[in-house]
Amino acid sequence: KSGFVAIIGRPNVGKSTLLNRIVGEKIAIMSDKAQTTRNKIQGIYTTDNAQVVFIDTPGVHKPQNSLGDFMVKSAFSALHEADAIWFIADASMPRGRGDDFIIDRLKDVKNTPIYLLINKVDLVSPQDLLTIIASYQEDAIDWTEVFPISAREGDNVPELLGNIVDSL
Ligand code: GDP
Ligand code: MG
Repeated sequence: KSGFVAIIGRPNVGKSTLLNRIVGEKIAIMSDKAQTTRNKIQGIYTTDNAQVVFIDTPGVHKPQNSLGDFMVKSAFSALHEADAIWFIADASMPRGRGDDFIIDRLKDVKNTPIYLLINKVDLVSPQDLLTIIASYQEDAIDWTEVFPISAREGDNVPELLGNIVDSL
């Protein structure tokens, strides 16, 4: 089994942290500053019967200039090559314009499973988690799966990996 998963989300939701946890190496540069990771960085998760290639898609917020515009286009082009897309949201912040910008573009992607990953669940109460999940189910896409996770603590990450491997 093998496949290709694109990780997408606005800056600081935890894309690099999740990638590093899965691949177990410091492959993506971690920073609180947006756009530090300028390239699509791949990590490969390998088990006895599966190989999953991940791509981190930085810089997918609203472009300010033509370089930004180019980066956004190259980031979104990766989505059309993927077998699955993981959209990551931050459980500790309300859904905002940065999230909506990406969700609007994901509406154009057809025939690819799109997962909603609500990250940083370690920072919120169960009640607030339900509220934030509900906010991503209104005026959005029909998510293939919804996974509350903590990339930093590892909560629900093995289950997420099991699910993606089974789906390939
Ligand atoms: P990216 O811009 O989407 O790649 O986000 P990063 O992976 O660089 O993470 C941004 C910040 O969020 C860093 O300070 C991380 O330590 C923090 N972070 C990432 N995942 C979690 C999580 O599950 N829980 C908490 N509390 N912090 C997290
Ligand atoms: Mg990053």
